Amino acid sequence: MPKKRNCPLAGRCGGCDYVNWKYSDELLEKYLVEEQFLSRFCHVSPILPSPEITGYRCKIQAVCGSEEGKLVTGIYRKGSHKLIPVRSCPLEDRRAAPILSTIRTLANRFHILPYDEDRGTGHLRHVLVRCSDYYDEVLVVLVASSFDLPSASDVAAALHQKHPEVKSVSIIVNTDKTSMVIPENAKEKVIYGKGYIMDRLLSLDFRISARSFYQVNPRQAANLYTIAMNMADLRPSDTVIDAYSGTGTIALIAASYGAGKVIGVESNAEAVRDAEENARINGLDNAVFVADDASKWMKAKAKEGMRCSVLFLDPPRSGATEEFLAAAGRMDMDRIVYVSCNPETLGRDLRYIHRFLPYDAVGIQPVDLFPGSQHIETVVLLEHR
Ligand code: SAH
Repeated sequence: MPKKRNCPLAGRCGGCDYVNWKYSDELLEKYLVEEQFLSRFCHVSPILPSPEITGYRCKIQAVCGSEEGKLVTGIYRKGSHKLIPVRSCPLEDRRAAPILSTIRTLANRFHILPYDEDRGTGHLRHVLVRCSDYYDEVLVVLVASSFDLPSASDVAAALHQKHPEVKSVSIIVNTDKTSMVIPENAKEKVIYGKGYIMDRLLSLDFRISARSFYQVNPRQAANLYTIAMNMADLRPSDTVIDAYSGTGTIALIAASYGAGKVIGVESNAEAVRDAEENARINGLDNAVFVADDASKWMKAKAKEGMRCSVLFLDPPRSGATEEFLAAAGRMDMDRIVYVSCNPETLGRDLRYIHRFLPYDAVGIQPVDLFPGSQHIETVVLLEHR
């Protein structure tokens, strides 16, 4: 029986649409969305439920504001700039709420003020908490208006003393007028620990730093990647491309699942460095990573006559580009495994592939990575006609 979520803030914070629904009803609703966008291409398998529907979220981004002169943390009400204070969220890793509570206490003790975007006054803007699922390790990032956060090293030391699982604390400066928590070129200063934590997924270790992409529900992500590997059916003779590779999760799992050679392509240079380090940590010398725009790189490689046998792609919500897909079509692979976090752009890209490339979708497996919220992950296997 799935645990009840019973969120007292449901309907007020707006962060998730289904949190107080019966889980089976949530899955049904999500399946209907999948059918709407994808059933014209191939049968959509029943959605794989998440092993956990509470406490699964390992990345928490809390907004700072003030209430009765005290610093509070919470979430902006959906579609607004109104802060809803949150003491605990049923979806979040259970280690996060006590850590955030200690940060509020320390901020009030050391006179750290919430940042006021309109006036440009105050210090703390967001607190980012990332928790390892496998190891008892937590990374804390204080997103602030400057590195001169009052008593910052005392705060970090006190935080680690009260919560020994906090292994790293850093400050990232963000003074932009933006809704992004961490802008791309923001500077980071590590004030305690190494600036990253480790997690283990499918017997591999991954380094997670403040900015690197890492799936927020790691146990279900392991299931997602296993499905992707089963679809890819890798052989030692295979040359594999993992496009939009992030910190190298799919590429390295493929390398450890028997692929001969794997190339990961990712535009974020810091994520590429993490991926290279992750290859080294896991002793996988059959994976290499390139920092480049995926479409640009695919086009250049197709022009050089590069061939590959399996293509994985896991693009952001905007999906792939026509340029990317057209170049992929010239590489003559046997199979494409498309991992998507947006069924609508996935449907658009499948329509392009069916019309212009010699591949057919032969399996569509939705995976519930985000219980409570309306987001859905999908893996699609396409085979050469
Ligand atoms: N496959 C990884 C990451 C997927 S998230 C995992 O499972 O963890 C999508 C990734 O695409 C992000 O790391 C993002 O930085 C990257 N990205 C976004 N636009 C890109 C582009 N135009 N070219 C290459 N990578 C891009």
